[in-house]
Amino acid sequence: MKYWDEKFETMSVDAMRDFQFTQFKKTVNWVYEKIPFYKNKLDDLGFKPNDIKSLGDLAKLPFTVKNDLRDNYPFGLCAVPIQDLVRIHASSGTTGKPITGPYTADDLEQWTVCMARNMTAAGVRSNDIIQNAYGYGLFTGGLGFHQGASKIGAAVVPTSSGQTERQITIMQDFKTTVLFSTPSYALTIAEKAAQMGVDMKSLPLRVGVFGAEPWTVEMRKEIEERMGIKAHEAYGLTELGGPGVAFDCEAQDGYLHVNEDHILIEIIDPVTGEVLPLGQKGELVFTAIQRQAMPLLRYRTRDITSIKQEKCSCGRTLVKMEKVYGRSDDMLIISGVNIFPSQIESLLLDQKEVEPQYVIIVKKKGYLDTLEVHVEAKPAVYEAGAEMIKGAEQKIENHIKGMIGIGIKVRLVAPGTITRSEGKAKRVIDERKL
Ligand SMILES: [Zn+2]
Repeated sequence: MKYWDEKFETMSVDAMRDFQFTQFKKTVNWVYEKIPFYKNKLDDLGFKPNDIKSLGDLAKLPFTVKNDLRDNYPFGLCAVPIQDLVRIHASSGTTGKPITGPYTADDLEQWTVCMARNMTAAGVRSNDIIQNAYGYGLFTGGLGFHQGASKIGAAVVPTSSGQTERQITIMQDFKTTVLFSTPSYALTIAEKAAQMGVDMKSLPLRVGVFGAEPWTVEMRKEIEERMGIKAHEAYGLTELGGPGVAFDCEAQDGYLHVNEDHILIEIIDPVTGEVLPLGQKGELVFTAIQRQAMPLLRYRTRDITSIKQEKCSCGRTLVKMEKVYGRSDDMLIISGVNIFPSQIESLLLDQKEVEPQYVIIVKKKGYLDTLEVHVEAKPAVYEAGAEMIKGAEQKIENHIKGMIGIGIKVRLVAPGTITRSEGKAKRVIDERKL
């Protein structure tokens, strides 16, 4: 079975647009009736739900931003009475109030189906034994993946994150075939296995579904190589119900299919708010069209990407978005040049002298912002001494300068000294904010 939901995953574009239009209209009526926040916003624009005549009218609606969710914490944007909810997740931002994700029974089922699609596309089947090393809790990763895997009928081992040695022992004892985790935690597991003398390539593990943090194609290859598996991606956000918003398929062409029968996708100019044409890079905006508890209109994700509409080699017709390499607020501006941490990651992972463990430090020197990258040396390089290290640092600095045009100080640090991730990795330390 190649698709979980063949009807929607391979639907013609015209039929999809018809379906989306019906859902879109229903959603705007629903939020207008049930959520005073949206009623006020639409009233201010003089816009009535019945003014909607086509999908193009989406662009006339107001945006929703992260602060709207914070300002309405915890249930101000909830469209149903609390007694109709069956689950409430939350994500803690680094600053400000958390964001709540409420679900009705129907919302939970839809989310589960979206996850089942994601996993089916990654090659997960009912006879798989899945180790779910996403954190279980308020975070949507643990339970979202758990539900999807149960739907497929696979056996879920709910290890949650952490206790890395035990993860490996279970992997050996249970003959785990699929791993779910963040990409950085997958790397931590692979490294620990090597330290324990376990050859991951000889284990039955064959597929990983990774997400919840931006990761590069180079990182995917690194994980595939170390674990001897095929690594796939799950993309999502708490505001839109968690993972399962978009997923990659066998094509692995750097794009993810969006579950567009559940979510409308737009790309806008982050400055003017104008909708950009297919293929152009901009800020990703989502509208949930099947959710009951919290169907957000035009939610600005701050993720930068582009979309393309073409039939994929996997047979799916679902629109594709380019893999996200970073939120617009993760972007660093150094000497007037915009840099995403993921760009530095892909340049580092090209280098044979270093391990894929790094941290980027942003400093202020006088009026200038500067970047320093600390990356772990391979043990052989580190043991070869100061001259070898110096040479490697110089070489990597030149490589980065050649590729992105600015000087970044690179420091090779001792193997094993950078904190390992068990969940979402912290790759940037901004000393300007300390
Ligand atoms: Zn595809």
